[in-house]
Amino acid sequence: MKIKYSAAVIMLVVMTLTACQNQEVSQDQEKQSANTEQNQQENQNEEKSSENEQDQDTETNKGESGEQTSEDSEMNEGSKGSDQETEDKKNANDKNEKPDENGIVTLSDPTAIDLVVNKQRKLPDGFVPPDLVEPDVRFSFDEWREKRQMRQVAAGPLEKLFKGAKQAGINLFAVSGYRSYQRQETIYNYNVETKGLEHANKYSAKPGHSEHQTGLTMDVSSPAVSYDLVEGFRDTAAGEWLAKHAHEYGFIIRYPKGKADITGYSYEPWHIRYVGKELAKDIYEQQVTLEEFFGLQPGAGTDEK
Ligand SMILES: [Zn+2]
Repeated sequence: MKIKYSAAVIMLVVMTLTACQNQEVSQDQEKQSANTEQNQQENQNEEKSSENEQDQDTETNKGESGEQTSEDSEMNEGSKGSDQETEDKKNANDKNEKPDENGIVTLSDPTAIDLVVNKQRKLPDGFVPPDLVEPDVRFSFDEWREKRQMRQVAAGPLEKLFKGAKQAGINLFAVSGYRSYQRQETIYNYNVETKGLEHANKYSAKPGHSEHQTGLTMDVSSPAVSYDLVEGFRDTAAGEWLAKHAHEYGFIIRYPKGKADITGYSYEPWHIRYVGKELAKDIYEQQVTLEEFFGLQPGAGTDEK
């Protein structure tokens, strides 16, 4: 009885926590299927299954096996990179970064535009971008939320990208940008407590490892796929346009198809990352990932098959 009672209390606390995030969701949800980005978290909660809103992104990411991962679900761990040292010298961000005993590098310059955050490379604990603003673009929801934000340096280019899309007759909507360390931490800790460390590491992002925390990323979608973050977005006019033109505004498709063994994440045609025009153009033309471009060790930690 006692045990049940404590469990109930824990659930209550957790639900309250998630409620904050989900309230928002449920509102949009009705409107537009909300899915969005919450997904990350959603992913993490995925198995909870209780809230479907939460997992929309997940469908995409999980695949049938449930083994795939997404930025929004961020898995981690895995083989780790003891090899980490060999790489990064080319990356301007990597000056003094040495992997810890778990093979994880903590970035010393978390505001660098060309930084690489992935399962082996994390932002410093508690990092908050100094220049978060709300870009003047259309979102898939109306309320104010943390995820409406981006770093100023990326917000202007995003606005231009949206203008360019509009001029091309493309119906693009922003879905999810900045995600705080705290939010990720709450989700991760919850999963550790309720499902155990191993499971949590497999299905949820560790705080500091989400590219959304950099403030340089935005998930976008379109009404054609109900504003969802799904692979099918690539086949919409908006997805097509984005794949062809994002680089002209300084953005890359961060998790290209067939590169999960390198990035650690499945294909995410909706997830764009600001890197600046020059780098975006190079990456687009060379058809490489950010990891490959900088000669970083292909993403240990993926559990993709
Ligand atoms: Zn994303």
